[in-house]
Amino acid sequence: MENKSTNKKISREKEIVSLMIDLYHKGGENTLTMEEYLDIKEYSMERLDSCPFGEDKTFCSSCQVHCYDGDHREKIRLVMRHSAPRMLFYHPVMMLRHTLASLKRS
Ligand code: SF4
Repeated sequence: MENKSTNKKISREKEIVSLMIDLYHKGGENTLTMEEYLDIKEYSMERLDSCPFGEDKTFCSSCQVHCYDGDHREKIRLVMRHSAPRMLFYHPVMMLRHTLASLKRS
């Protein structure tokens, strides 16, 4: 059963992933159609809601299970490669808080 802390973590991760998808979609390297953009957003939110690790969740990028199917995994890989370094520039406080929280859990 999910507790309040897990919900908070998952909510924060959903916010971060959503921002990263937006950054990719607005950027010059974007290869997603509007339909694909909406789909990967919805899919990644669903995956986070169903994450089996809950409280012990790590970064999705370093997850050993990686619950994304092949097509969505390829798309989120493109998003992460583009947006991860840019998040430090656009949302430094959020990324610092997220990194510290993840380090505490490891
Ligand atoms: S990739 Fe791993 S950590 Fe991320 S939601 Fe799926 S199971 Fe959870």
